[in-house]
Amino acid sequence: MKIHALTTGTVSVKQSFLYPASGVRRQLNLFLPDAWSKPLPIHCWAIEHDGLLRLVDTGATTNTQDVVFARMSVSGDQELPGALAAAGLSLEDVSEVVLTHHHGDHVDGLPHVHAPVRISDVELDFVATTFPRLMRRILRQPLPSGFAPEPFALDSGPFGAFARSRALSDDGRIIAVATPGHTPGHISVICVDDAGRHVMLAGDATDSLEQLHALRADAVGPDVKVHVATLEAIRSHCAQHATVYLPSHDPDSAKRLAGAVTSAETAPVT
Ligand SMILES: [Zn+2]
Ligand SMILES: [Zn+2]
Repeated sequence: MKIHALTTGTVSVKQSFLYPASGVRRQLNLFLPDAWSKPLPIHCWAIEHDGLLRLVDTGATTNTQDVVFARMSVSGDQELPGALAAAGLSLEDVSEVVLTHHHGDHVDGLPHVHAPVRISDVELDFVATTFPRLMRRILRQPLPSGFAPEPFALDSGPFGAFARSRALSDDGRIIAVATPGHTPGHISVICVDDAGRHVMLAGDATDSLEQLHALRADAVGPDVKVHVATLEAIRSHCAQHATVYLPSHDPDSAKRLAGAVTSAETAPVT
């Protein structure tokens, strides 16, 4: 198994996004002037395994809109075809795409892809509800044209510390686990690598490893308690299994993947 970090540009976010206030100000502050972070990567991931090439997310494009708390920087050659080519891979070889959640910086590369696309059934149902529809209008962040992923249920029972999971590969070494919080149907993908480590492609479960250790819910998830319960599950999974924890926007994710650095080696998980 070989896992590649693909980088489709960068995003800068407000401090109120990375370090949200509590109560009503958690989301309100996103709309107020604030300091901006340094550029953070917009990763998606390619997994070579068993003769197949799977993608987890498709990254951002030049069409991905800035929002009031996030500024994108993406050039044409950073979009999915160029990001794959930089890793020595080709779009034509992609056999399947799995989406962690429906946000633009994870799905806007979909028009490049000619392979089956899957998303959790809970996330697909959520996409169609009033609140995210309204937010897409307000934030002027439409879904990419032709957005029609196939839903799948996380009905294979628990995996490690996660209550709900679904094997994505026949040999069970690539597993989707339910990580609700950032969005209600958010999933992460765990790859059991050749050394037996769990490489966790976390999506936006957190923005950084530090946020995981701090058990800090993010500024945009609809339910803080649900998010914190997911962070506790991830921490407990990391304590049970050597886990390389890779959020999509963590500036250290690519380094941790390259060095196979586990969460426990980076900071104590208690
Ligand atoms: Zn997101
Ligand atoms: Zn994101």
